[in-house]
Amino acid sequence: MTQDWVDSPPRPPEEGKVKLTLVVACALIDVDNRVLIAQRPEGKQLAGLWEFPGGKFEPGERPEQALIRELCEELGIVTQEACLAPLTFASHAYESFHLLMPLYICRRWQGDVTPKEGQALKWVRANKLRDYPMPPADIPLIPPLIDLLM
Ligand code: C5P
Repeated sequence: MTQDWVDSPPRPPEEGKVKLTLVVACALIDVDNRVLIAQRPEGKQLAGLWEFPGGKFEPGERPEQALIRELCEELGIVTQEACLAPLTFASHAYESFHLLMPLYICRRWQGDVTPKEGQALKWVRANKLRDYPMPPADIPLIPPLIDLLM
């Protein structure tokens, strides 16, 4: 049998290869023990869902560095590594990638929380977080927050 492709034959999907996406997220906690959630804006994947603020790592960043940068970019606040404590970890298989996402808690920062990217923000009691539709990766992060805060 001959083959008539000019370059290389189409390759089957490489078995066992998964695209990993690394995101770091933060539960900011205010003096009333409420947690900040942000609504994903129109035009983004999963628009309209509520999430814990954060974002993707840039090359070479450690989780705390990525989070400090993201909190400044998205919310206009400044915090330090000593104010960030890891709480739990999300691992979720989306259709086209696998998301790994540590969740930190943060109770101390400087500046007023401001929606720098036009996103809606809400301070919510941990036991009310389930009232807000969230990306599937974020949902398993709720029980550890309830255990911590309620
Ligand atoms: O925020 P960004 O779009 O860069 O995040 C990349 C992907 O990670 C999103 O498309 C979404 O599927 C997922 N994500 C999530 N929960 C978050 C943040 C991101 O599931 N809190």
